[in-house]
Amino acid sequence: MAWWNGPVIIIVGMLLGPLPIAIWVYEFGYQTEAILLCTVSFLTFSCYFALYEYLHWRMHAPRDGWLEGTWVFKKLNAHHILHHRHMGSNFNTVVPLADWVLGTLLVRAKRPFMQVRGTSIPDVQP
Ligand SMILES: [Zn+2]
Repeated sequence: MAWWNGPVIIIVGMLLGPLPIAIWVYEFGYQTEAILLCTVSFLTFSCYFALYEYLHWRMHAPRDGWLEGTWVFKKLNAHHILHHRHMGSNFNTVVPLADWVLGTLLVRAKRPFMQVRGTSIPDVQP
């Protein structure tokens, strides 16, 4: 993604969710809670996007680090490989649960393809 996508996604996320709720809560006299809601939401969105950027970078430029050896990274990497092979599936790089909920989850390839190989790259062939 372009560098400005992160701030835009965070701002849109804030405008569509926490901010209207915080304004509503603020109007009822809960100023501290409204500020807390905005702060926690902003930090959550920011950390999520930073994690996405970092994991995506490591998936496309893997090293022999500890991260690539973890089962979580291998699972997410397999999920992401399938996204690049079948662009209509596996949109969420960090939390595949969203793909399961939205019906875009793909666990195995639909048909055989020339797959990259490596220690941090699981076999996703059908
Ligand atoms: Zn990618």
